[in-house]
Amino acid sequence: MSQYQAVKGTRDIFPEEATQWKYVEAIVHTLASLYGFSEIRIPIFEYTELFQRGIGSTTDIVGKEMFSFQPDPKGRSLTLRPEMTAGVMRATLQKNLLSSAPVHKLYYIGELFRKERPQAGRQRQFSQFGAELIGVSSPAAVSEVITLMMHVFESLGVTGLKLRINTLGDTADRARYREALQAYFAPFHEILDDASKERLEKNPLRILDSKNPALEELVAGAPRLYDYLNDSSLRDFEKVCFYLAERNIAYHIDHRLVRGLDYYSHTAFEVTSSELGAQDAIGGGGRYDGLARELGNSSDVPASGFAAGMERLLITMEKQGLFAALQPFGPLVYIVVQQQDLTDHALQIAWRLRKGGIKTEIDLATRSMKAQMREANRIRASYALFIGTAEYATGNYTLKNLATSEQKTLSLDAVLQILHEPAAKKLLDL
Ligand code: AMP
Repeated sequence: MSQYQAVKGTRDIFPEEATQWKYVEAIVHTLASLYGFSEIRIPIFEYTELFQRGIGSTTDIVGKEMFSFQPDPKGRSLTLRPEMTAGVMRATLQKNLLSSAPVHKLYYIGELFRKERPQAGRQRQFSQFGAELIGVSSPAAVSEVITLMMHVFESLGVTGLKLRINTLGDTADRARYREALQAYFAPFHEILDDASKERLEKNPLRILDSKNPALEELVAGAPRLYDYLNDSSLRDFEKVCFYLAERNIAYHIDHRLVRGLDYYSHTAFEVTSSELGAQDAIGGGGRYDGLARELGNSSDVPASGFAAGMERLLITMEKQGLFAALQPFGPLVYIVVQQQDLTDHALQIAWRLRKGGIKTEIDLATRSMKAQMREANRIRASYALFIGTAEYATGNYTLKNLATSEQKTLSLDAVLQILHEPAAKKLLDL
């Protein structure tokens, strides 16, 4: 036992689970490209200001959740990325991508870091996949990103998800609504908790996000943003709903959904999973036309995107038995060596099989034949290839199908030939 433990809020992903990750990632890559999104990979840390400006100063992430550090006494503060959108927008603006084409569709899979109190479904290092559609903002654009996200979940066979959507209107709508909220909450100042008191000044919309049960009734009676929308904002939202309905994507309108980030406008959405506990959000996003200007761009850059949590998706899939059909991760062939002095020859055979494209495993601990066979079964090898003195002398090897126990003695070329698909399948079927 090592005296060291993984840091609380982080976790190791061992091979069997890594197979599940690769499967989910493969679906993300395939579907993102189907919808015309290209992959972007950005640094894991950025200058702290990017997130302070980018996320806005009243969000939890900036308030208390960032892992920031100073690399040298005179250096600028750096922060491990707590979200991807600000970094992707920073990269887009820095590279001046919009001058080459008006619209950029980018997706990513990567790790994020938040200094939240770890609990089930909430880690300090976690992964997201997501997409950002930058350069155009419209009901069509935002419904593209929602559709892509839901398509990923659907392709993976996930059920029991609930998509909630809302509109945050435009800046003018929100300004009027903000005033209405302040007027509504002001008489109750005394019963608000500290976080809500602070939000009342800076961003009263976020009080609606409060998870404090003591405020539930008060929040439920608050005015709805929906009633402060102008005609164009209303039409915009109706169009998003129309697109979702056209695509058979079930949704619920949730007037209290405001999302944690300040730069959102118009559509916001969140997906929750019935398989998860208190931390049941599996993905979310919205339109964030105002972010580029917050990052110092001279004008708004219309954009929308989503981010989904890999760990929570994997927990949901595991609970729903969606990994049961995944291929075993063990090798196809396990070389079983009869006696120790044949090991060098066996290693050479293993190398030739691998060069021939055959997944091969061999015992490097020179254990007994019985132990080697046990190992072959443990790692779920499909075949055992026996190497004994007779095989060594003749150059013909015994290949045993471990599922059917059928065996054949063959030259190495014949072994290679037979193990190649679809021949391998045929032998399995014999
Ligand atoms: P957010 O960027 O906060 O909108 O989060 C998007 C998704 O990332 C959420 O719906 C979760 O699935 C996932 N997520 C957010 N924070 C965490 C965390 N601390 N640990 C694990 N997953 C998280």
